[in-house]
Amino acid sequence: MDPMDWNERIAREIKRLVRESPANRHPGSDSPYFDEPLVGYASLHDPLFQEYRVSIGNFHLSPGIFLESAFGPGSGRGGTVICWILPISASTRESNRTGIRMPSREWAYTRTHGEAFNNGLRKHLVDFLTASGSRAIAPLLSDLFRTVETPEGLSSTWSERHAAYAAGLGTFSLSRGFITERGIAHRCGSVITDQVIAPTPRRNSHFGENCLFYRNGSCGACIARCPAGAITRDGHDKKLCRDYGYGTVVREVGERYGVEAPGCGLCQTGVPCEAGIPG
Ligand code: SF4
Ligand code: SF4
Repeated sequence: MDPMDWNERIAREIKRLVRESPANRHPGSDSPYFDEPLVGYASLHDPLFQEYRVSIGNFHLSPGIFLESAFGPGSGRGGTVICWILPISASTRESNRTGIRMPSREWAYTRTHGEAFNNGLRKHLVDFLTASGSRAIAPLLSDLFRTVETPEGLSSTWSERHAAYAAGLGTFSLSRGFITERGIAHRCGSVITDQVIAPTPRRNSHFGENCLFYRNGSCGACIARCPAGAITRDGHDKKLCRDYGYGTVVREVGERYGVEAPGCGLCQTGVPCEAGIPG
């Protein structure tokens, strides 16, 4: 099959699952966690994956290492990183906009149950590719995935957002989020395959082009939205953000909402980049 045909076939399957899966629904409702996804592709040989081992740290693994760990030497010689963005629905974003200190219940459900759906999507895509005769692995579900403590805060052996950047899906933000054409309020995912698929061109001139602060020094709305003081004009403090999101928020609303990881996301709602690239 032509690499371009694979491009369309994979995107169609990801979009179908997001549209049809009952797991992409709020409890007792027809309302989806996520709207139609964006899908992009990066070559296994994209030099960015080697650069990440310098800019993030040498603990960050290249896609070929994930393939070879699962399928043996030589299996990571070529292929593709398939990436997707799951835009959070308008009603959930709206519910989180009014929050000052705590996320909304809908946001917390999306962070927990929506991410469980995202894991199901990772597994489904691996099965779909395997059934099509390709090798595939979801980095976040692999034995090689682990979190890593660094002087700046928690990092990991695979970054979904950096993969999405390589796949032309958006750029980074002052708040350390990832701004796509559907905005910053989303979850993202990836699967690595030995199938060669036409890469998505990167159209941005630099890593922060979609963020107004990085583009022209304006905005900074996310600074005021953060109740933890984790965002300043100097960037995002991972430790303050984590202490707030995985400490304060869990203590205050985790039990009431009945979820272990409610998230926070206040800096992703009520800001100009919430649902699109700000002009
Ligand atoms: S709110 Fe403004 S400064 Fe913050 S990430 Fe969005 S565009 Fe950038
Ligand atoms: S997720 Fe919450 S704590 Fe973290 S930077 Fe955004 S607003 Fe601040």
